[in-house]
Amino acid sequence: MTEESQRCVYCREEILDKHGMHWNIDHVVPKSVAPEFTFFPLNLALCCWGCNQAKGTSDPRTKRALKKPIYPSVSQDYRAYHPYFDEWDEHLYKDAESKLVIPRPGSTKGATIIEICNLQRLAARKAELIMNAKESRSIERVRELMKTGDVKTIEGFIQALESFSGSTDEFAALARQIYSSHLAPDD
Ligand SMILES: [Zn+2]
Repeated sequence: MTEESQRCVYCREEILDKHGMHWNIDHVVPKSVAPEFTFFPLNLALCCWGCNQAKGTSDPRTKRALKKPIYPSVSQDYRAYHPYFDEWDEHLYKDAESKLVIPRPGSTKGATIIEICNLQRLAARKAELIMNAKESRSIERVRELMKTGDVKTIEGFIQALESFSGSTDEFAALARQIYSSHLAPDD
């Protein structure tokens, strides 16, 4: 077992655990839908627990590729980013500060893998950590913002949270203000 850190093929976060507890071997095409590819090397990729959990049984193949009896081995066979047939940087980029993973303009593969692996959870988690220290009731607001997938809004919200250094009452007011300026109230 190497002690070098590895990065998840989907979210690009470091997998620091040395004991293998948080490493997952992802079956890119899930073994539940295609058991014939369970041990095929190009179908196996190192990923983090969170991405593996989110991905579940989502099948990234295109409809055309689903009919193939052999492992689909070109980029066009996949509707989502494939760790061996696509370049991560061509389809995605990550804002190091907010941890938002954003699709490159026009990349449907990037957008699809963000959805399949719920990659916005990284930013949600970061916002949660900030908010835990400030005003826990607002966590729900961030969760709802994440669902909208509106990158600019989420970025703005997280930036506002990070730069805030007042009391919890002031924070709650700020959160409400940011929130209501971007989303219609549901009550
Ligand atoms: Zn990951």
